[in-house]
Amino acid sequence: MSAAPARRFQARDDLVELEGYHSPQVDVAVRLNTNESPESPPAAFRAQLAAEMADLDWNRYPDRGALELRAAIAAHHGVRPEQVLAANGSNEILQLVCLGFGGSGRSAALFHPTYLMHAQIAALTGTRVVTGNRAPDFSLDLGEVQRVMDESHPAITFLCSPNNPTGTVCSPEEVAQVASLAPGVVVVDEAYGQFARWSALELVNEDSSVVVTRTFSKTWSMAAARLGYLIGPAWLVAELDKVVLPYHLDAVKQLAGRVALRFEAEMIERVRALVSERERLATAMGRLAIEQWPSGANFILFRPLLPAARADGATARRAHGHAVWQGLVDRSVLVRDCGSWPGLEGCLRVTVGTPHEGDAFLSALTSTLTEVLA
Ligand code: PMP
Repeated sequence: MSAAPARRFQARDDLVELEGYHSPQVDVAVRLNTNESPESPPAAFRAQLAAEMADLDWNRYPDRGALELRAAIAAHHGVRPEQVLAANGSNEILQLVCLGFGGSGRSAALFHPTYLMHAQIAALTGTRVVTGNRAPDFSLDLGEVQRVMDESHPAITFLCSPNNPTGTVCSPEEVAQVASLAPGVVVVDEAYGQFARWSALELVNEDSSVVVTRTFSKTWSMAAARLGYLIGPAWLVAELDKVVLPYHLDAVKQLAGRVALRFEAEMIERVRALVSERERLATAMGRLAIEQWPSGANFILFRPLLPAARADGATARRAHGHAVWQGLVDRSVLVRDCGSWPGLEGCLRVTVGTPHEGDAFLSALTSTLTEVLA
C-alpha cells in the first residue's frame, strides 16, 4: 500500500472552512427539490434551436457582448440593451455583482432565511457577509434592515423576491424603502419573478440603486442551458461588463436564449398552470398536520407539526422534519430538507410540478405523516 502523498500546499484559509453548496440528488421517481420546471420547452423551440444551430460559426468565438441576446431580453422587458447583462445562470450574475461591487474591505447584506448562495457567492469573492433576520412571518423587517445598514454600510444588499425558500414576495414599498436605506447596490433576485404579481423591474432606472436578476432556469424550462441576466442602470451594467471573462457566454446559449424569447406566450401559460397547481397543493396541504407559508413562487415551504405530546424545540422539530423528508424519499418523492437553514428548523420545501407529481407528493405526505405521527 502506498502512503497518501504529503500535502505541500492548501487552498485559501477561508475556503478550507467553507462547506460548499449541497442539495442531495437521490434517485427517485418524483423530483420536487430544485424548483425546476416540470416540463421541457415547447417542441417548436427545440426544432428552431436545432435548425439555427446548424448555421453557427463553430470555428469563431461567440459574439463577445452577446448583443443580439441583450437586445432580445431588453425588448422583452421594454428596457434599453445597455441595461442588460447576461451570464451563465443568475448565480454567475450574482458572482459578477460581488466581483464588481464587493470584495476585500466591502460587505454584502442579506436577511435570513433566504437563498443560501447569496452568502456563499459573497464569501467566495472575499466580500464580508453581514446578516439580519426577517420577521417571524418571513416578511422584511425594515427596522432590522436599518440596523444592518447603519452598522455595516454594505456595498451590496441582497433581497430575494419571491424569497427562496419561504416564497414571500416583497411589496413595492419594502423594496423602495430598502433602496432608500441602502448605501450601495440593491440586488433583487427574481429567479421566480414571473410567478409573483409584482416585480421590482419597475424600480430600475438610471438614478436608482436597484438591479433585478432573472433566470431562464425556472419559468423558461431551460435549467440545462445555464442562462441568467440582470436588468439595471446602464452605468452599472458597464462596470459589470469589465468583470466578465472574454467570450464567457457561448454561442449555443446565446442562440437558445433568443429562440426561447419567441415563446413568451407558452411560458406565460406554463406559469399560469403552475400557479393554479400551487394553489391546489396549498389547499390540499392545509388539511394535513403541517404549517405552511403563502408562496408567490413555484414552491411551497411547510413544516410538519410536532404532536402535542412531544417536546417542542429546534432539535425536535429538525428531527421530525427530517423523518418526514425520509418518509417521502422512501415513497420515491424528493423534496428539499431546509431544516439546517437559519430559522427554518423542521421545514421542507416542495417544488410545484405537474398535477400527477402533485398527487404523488400529497399521497406520500399523507401516509408519511400518518406513519411518523403514530
Ligand atoms: N436565485 C435563486 C433565488 C434561486 O433559487 C436560484 C436557483 N436555485 C438561482 C438564483 C440560480 O439560478 P440559475 O439557475 O439561474 O443560476
